[in-house]
Amino acid sequence: MVIVMNKNATPAQIEHVVAALIDKNFDVHRSTGVSRTVIGAIGDKHAFDEREFLVLDGVSEVVRITEPYKLASRTFQQEDTVIEISGVKIGGDEVIVMAGPCAVESTEQIQAIASAVKSSGAKILRGGAFKPRTSPYSFQGLGEEGLKIMRKAADDHALLVVSEIMDQSQVELMVGYCDILQVGARNMQNFDLLKSLGKINTPILLKRGMSATIEETLMSAEYIMAGGNYQVIICERGIRTFEKYTRNTMDISSIPVIQKLSHLPIIADPSHGTGIRNKVAPMARAAVAAGAHGLQIEVHNDPDHAASDGAQSLYPEQFAQLMTECRLIAGAINKSM
Ligand code: PEP
Ligand code: MN
Repeated sequence: MVIVMNKNATPAQIEHVVAALIDKNFDVHRSTGVSRTVIGAIGDKHAFDEREFLVLDGVSEVVRITEPYKLASRTFQQEDTVIEISGVKIGGDEVIVMAGPCAVESTEQIQAIASAVKSSGAKILRGGAFKPRTSPYSFQGLGEEGLKIMRKAADDHALLVVSEIMDQSQVELMVGYCDILQVGARNMQNFDLLKSLGKINTPILLKRGMSATIEETLMSAEYIMAGGNYQVIICERGIRTFEKYTRNTMDISSIPVIQKLSHLPIIADPSHGTGIRNKVAPMARAAVAAGAHGLQIEVHNDPDHAASDGAQSLYPEQFAQLMTECRLIAGAINKSM
């Protein structure tokens, strides 16, 4: 449930409500709402009568959150969440672009790509150091060495770093190198991993599972938030359907649907969403038009020889062109890029 305090509620009244909630075994979460204090209380839905809280001094309203996800819901927080990382704001009116190779392969590769994507306007460098591959014989990533060379390339070009974490044992290592930790589609319901990410302060990019419903995706965000880490960005990356002409089916409609249900930022990954280079730009443009807060795009300086996902990686010139087009679309819906 959500307890909305009066605009002029005193700190003592707020503390009293918090104490009453803790006394009834609720988990208490304060929303970052601007105009008044909103207290989120998560607990057993049958074991209380909300009037107990409605009568407390300073309380204006008590609202039950009917969705199974609580902290991630718009009922809990009406205003959009904006996640700020070293001056880059994700979730506001600027469309933020994360770009880079599927996998970090070498210093030369990542430096060349970092330079190209930065000059086209990307703010965040993407690249996997730990790769979740369908085959155990495929390139598995450079591990810590990959993180090191990506961090250096990002710092050299004033970019942030997003990279995928595959296991909770990697948390300590990865927070030392990354500004955002990505949870891949295959790990969206790795609940132990999600719980461990709830305990850190690093923002999380949570990719929709390839067979996950929107509700399941928001429940995974809830796992992270329930642990105390509210900095979750959702990523639509396509879902598996009966269609075979694309690698996945890019669910553009999930963008406005999630924006209605949740205050969390939502970005789109049309690279994995389509799996085919010449389909990436149309879907990227569509995602910006649909209101995505950002894009994640695979870009490679030599896609024909990429260690992974070359067929869906853009050439730097294609990426530059795409950025120009998306900027026009963003402007048409009163956003910047
Ligand atoms: C990736 O970003 O390279 C990746 C493996 O993405 P996903 O988890 O969406 O398949
Ligand atoms: Mn990839």
